Amino acid sequence: MTLTGGSIWLRSLVKVIMRSKLCKWNAFGACRQLNRLLSSNAHAHDRITIDRSGLHKGAGYPAVEKATFADANAELVRHLQSVITFRGGPMSVAEYMSTALAHPQLGYYATQDAIGEQSDFITAPEVSQMPGELIGAWFVHLWASMGAPARVALVELGPGKGNLISDTLRCAQQAAPLFMHGVELHLVEASERMRAAQRQALRTPVVTALDSTNEASGSAEDQSGGLKGSGVERGVSYAFSDCVVMWHNSLDSVPREIPTLVLAHEFFDALPVHQFERTSRGWCERLIDSNEGNNCSSDSARESNCDAYSTSGPLRFVLSPSPTAHSRLLTTKRLEHAQKQIDTSEVTQLECSPKSMTTVDSVAKRIDEAGGAMLVIDYGSEFPSMDRGFTLQAIRNHEFVPLLESAGNSDLSAHVDFGSLTMAAHESQADVKVYGPITQSHFFEELGIGYRADQLMQSATTSELAESIKVQWQRITGTEPSDMGKQYKAWTMVHKDMPVPPGFA
Ligand code: SAH
Repeated sequence: MTLTGGSIWLRSLVKVIMRSKLCKWNAFGACRQLNRLLSSNAHAHDRITIDRSGLHKGAGYPAVEKATFADANAELVRHLQSVITFRGGPMSVAEYMSTALAHPQLGYYATQDAIGEQSDFITAPEVSQMPGELIGAWFVHLWASMGAPARVALVELGPGKGNLISDTLRCAQQAAPLFMHGVELHLVEASERMRAAQRQALRTPVVTALDSTNEASGSAEDQSGGLKGSGVERGVSYAFSDCVVMWHNSLDSVPREIPTLVLAHEFFDALPVHQFERTSRGWCERLIDSNEGNNCSSDSARESNCDAYSTSGPLRFVLSPSPTAHSRLLTTKRLEHAQKQIDTSEVTQLECSPKSMTTVDSVAKRIDEAGGAMLVIDYGSEFPSMDRGFTLQAIRNHEFVPLLESAGNSDLSAHVDFGSLTMAAHESQADVKVYGPITQSHFFEELGIGYRADQLMQSATTSELAESIKVQWQRITGTEPSDMGKQYKAWTMVHKDMPVPPGFA
């Protein structure tokens, strides 16, 4: 099937879905979302509308005067300081990020309600049901082009509140009951708090903890971030044909032997990044040190220019006095790949996420072995370090806050380096093909978001509801700086025997 054919097929599918007995479903789904929108005022939607996308050029070094140390989780800060002191040296930005977000008791995901109008940031599935529905149709299309296998694993990485997967499944249920009959749902989620929200969204009140034969191995970063143990749980979704739902701490325990469709929406931006700076001494690593007693905790930090950064908070940035193992390996690899397309001599700050690359590597190998595809939607670009330098930011209550001073109480997120995902797919040597990144606006428009929005607007019972749908549509595909359409990108990886997926013209 040609690309255009695929897109037309998908648009027809969307139309069929819209015409089918969805009226009831539409009304329910639309009302659910619209109520959500109407209950929040217009002002709420004007705040960091694109939660993470308006990041400043290069995170730089947060201004000390803005710091409000009381905003940090004091216990988490003490934990970080003791790790640094015990070890006798500063920690990488990646380890800080992983601990601050995912420490099982003290981390942001364990203690805060991250997503929502009343929380710290908002994501597309919280804005509208349309992205999830279109993604559902997209997956059904890919499943059909794989020959409609009787069993298929639908894997979501970082499902948040579970709204995206619910919208996806609801669409798939309507479009292809056969797909639903053979689907196993696997949710990779490290946060117990988020798992509770997902159980509610999927109506899976009872779950059983299982011993995984494939214990999550995890790196040092994972261990400090608390992604330990098998953490595998099993239940059935009363909302979706009693479909089996399994929760995992990592991809390692997700079965490999069946075709796999993987969805990662705003997942990669939360994965830990290392930060490197080009200096006269070579590429050095930006590290985080304890400020206890206003002394640097290690000789290495003391030798470096630690005074250049924040000194009044409990934690501060320092620069390694010489290249580190990470800086040598990762900068060489990333710049070599980028140099195939651009001149990288101007790049002075580089962010790399090895965890993102190993995730893509692992998915690529699965797709190679058993077939399938991966869809990534996130904010970022082909090579964010090129024009933005450091992009890691802390977000709290829909505003950017100083990075270290709000440890544990703010979301941390960095622009996704899509070029590094492509590099990881190629390096895996798996039989996969990669398409994108393309803008979210292009992707959803190709999939027929206009048709869907029209349908929802027509079935809206009041003009206010219809207007709200229009606002949602604009927010998802609009290209103004306050919209998501241009900042967010779609990227896909499919088995090499599969046709070009819809949307990736
Ligand atoms: N996909 C959702 C949520 C995005 S927030 C949406 O778009 O609305 C990021 C999600 O990834 C959260 O559910 C968080 O708990 C989860 N997460 C972050 N890092 C993770 C990791 N290393 N392993 C598993 N889940 C992780």
